[in-house]
Amino acid sequence: MSTAYDIVDHTYDVVVVGAGGAGLRATLGMAAQGLSTACITKVFPTRSHTVAAQGGMSASLGNMGEDSWQWHMYDTVKGSDWLGDQDAIEYMCREAVPAVIELEHFGVPFSRTDGGRIYQRPFGGMTTNYGEGIAQRTCAAADRTGHAILHTLYQQSLKHQAEFYIEYFALDLIMEEGVCRGVVAWDLSSGKIHRFRAHTVVLATGGYGRAYFSATSAHTCTGDGNAMVLRAGLPLQDMEFVQFHPTGIYGSGCLITEGARGEGGFLTNSDGERFMERYAPSAKDLASRDVVSRAMTMEIRDGRGVGGDGDHIHLHLEHLGTEVLAERLPGISESARIFAGVDVTKEPIPVLPTVHYNMGGIPTNYHGEVVTLKDGDPDSVVPGLMAIGEAACVSVHGANRLGSNSLLDIVVFGRAAALRAGELIGRGTPHKPLPKDCMEPILGRFDKLRHAKGSAPTATLRLDMQRVMQSHAAVFRTGDVMQEGVDKMAKIYGDFDNVSVQDTGLEWNTDLVETLELDNLRGQAVVTINSALNRQESRGGHAREDYPDRNDENWMKHTLAWVNPDGSVKIDYRPVHMNTLSDEIEPIPPKARVY
Ligand SMILES: Cc1cc2nc3c(=O)[nH]c(=O)nc-3n(C[C@H](O)[C@H](O)[C@H](O)COP(=O)(O)OP(=O)(O)OC[C@H]3O[C@@H](n4cnc5c(N)ncnc54)[C@H](O)[C@@H]3O)c2cc1C
Repeated sequence: MSTAYDIVDHTYDVVVVGAGGAGLRATLGMAAQGLSTACITKVFPTRSHTVAAQGGMSASLGNMGEDSWQWHMYDTVKGSDWLGDQDAIEYMCREAVPAVIELEHFGVPFSRTDGGRIYQRPFGGMTTNYGEGIAQRTCAAADRTGHAILHTLYQQSLKHQAEFYIEYFALDLIMEEGVCRGVVAWDLSSGKIHRFRAHTVVLATGGYGRAYFSATSAHTCTGDGNAMVLRAGLPLQDMEFVQFHPTGIYGSGCLITEGARGEGGFLTNSDGERFMERYAPSAKDLASRDVVSRAMTMEIRDGRGVGGDGDHIHLHLEHLGTEVLAERLPGISESARIFAGVDVTKEPIPVLPTVHYNMGGIPTNYHGEVVTLKDGDPDSVVPGLMAIGEAACVSVHGANRLGSNSLLDIVVFGRAAALRAGELIGRGTPHKPLPKDCMEPILGRFDKLRHAKGSAPTATLRLDMQRVMQSHAAVFRTGDVMQEGVDKMAKIYGDFDNVSVQDTGLEWNTDLVETLELDNLRGQAVVTINSALNRQESRGGHAREDYPDRNDENWMKHTLAWVNPDGSVKIDYRPVHMNTLSDEIEPIPPKARVY
């Protein structure tokens, strides 16, 4: 059957899948070291979800008060609720300062202080002196930081002559006996199938927020790389940890950056009370996202929500004044007007916790190399495969990511992956021929979906999945509700066999693209909800009413989850790395999180 498709062959040292911040930083780093590098992306690079990042990127520059990478590391470990790997966290927090300066030299137009330094705003969970004060650590380009970073990185990648395959949809990895040998992609414009052979494939395909009904992420955030890994028989890690952002605009889910609270915004309930003072007396509205989202949900449940149905909360920015709003928060002022009909200089914005970020993903070490549990070794490297950015689980965010640590993560580990590939790949190393039958399973799946003649439209199945995930794997979770969700998701997973695709064409076939994306999402949805049911404790973004406490004795470990061909899930574990990289900081021992 694969002979029915025209196949175009390519050979590179490295192929990066994804042109968001992570993919572009890796691409330019590889190309700059003289590796022949291709970057494949399903959307135009500057349309990747990174472009939507508003609030900023953390780094202990100390431009607006004393700061240190050790404090940043402490906050990140605490924010992760002690599920983050401390070696990777040390690496990220130390590299943050040179990473921002490098971006500045690349051309990112960061906002400035009056003295001309890079402006830094406070963000949730970012403190000075190990939790004593509030740090101003988040570097911003107004509230369009991701936009500024992404455009700059794309320009740098072009400068270093990386080759781009734009609007190519990566289908699957080419694996041979546990080694990644390349990747297969479908050119959405010509309809041709392209086979890329590479010494290393880097997955930088972003998160899978679209498994849920209400998400701040783009329609394209379907975790395609995660799904390719599952199909390759490899596990995903910590998928139960899904971050809800406290301030999605009620109704649309569109994001209002945490930077709004960083600039002095605050939340109120129907009594007009600043309720965060009760839940987090010290950090208040700038407590970390899991804490604020839970507090808001509790207020609504206790009958103190605002609006006719009492089902949301108010975010106030009016008191900040028109000047600050125009200078520091112009983008969200516009979003509030368009999506909530609100003039932020006069009235509060209606907001609700909304799915925002996936802490879980493809397990890697701090060089970006994909790891798996093999022959009892929990850090066994998968040769030829790397993962970075939101697709990866390094794990620097553990059970909960701090705001502004993701733009940092994508840039730091994009660079780390490039450095590692530069070490591992000898320039001009010849490529072995690919296994003869490597295209059969990949094109078999593609062809089957292209000609799927069932009775269930893709959009209907997707909505079923999104609704189950939204109500059964939400901010608060209980065993019963999740068990029901597991059963419902198993059914929806199976219903996919009955999917119908109307358009069998190969050029610009959005029907088939969305079906491939749904195939990718359903695997991640079953892994997420099964991992959540399995973890019998509360930690970070995973809050169980039937197990309200963190249980370090039994659960301070990473979940690994594989999907079997019948859609059932197999679970195992990896230990958390409690060791640091240097002796400049001691490992941070677990303690209760107090805000
Ligand atoms: C609205 C919003 C605001 C945010 N604000 C902040 C913030 O202020 N600070 C912060 O630190 N974090 C923020 N985040 C989180 C952060 O922006 C993301 O985690 C991060 O940008 C992800 O970058 P990435 O490079 O991993 O993936 P993305 O930017 O999502 O890019 C994914 C890339 O993969 C490609 N791709 C995917 N699938 C395929 C496929 N099958 N074939 C080919 N290509 C494929 C896409 O084309 C795209 O180029 C925000 C997130 C959202 C949604």
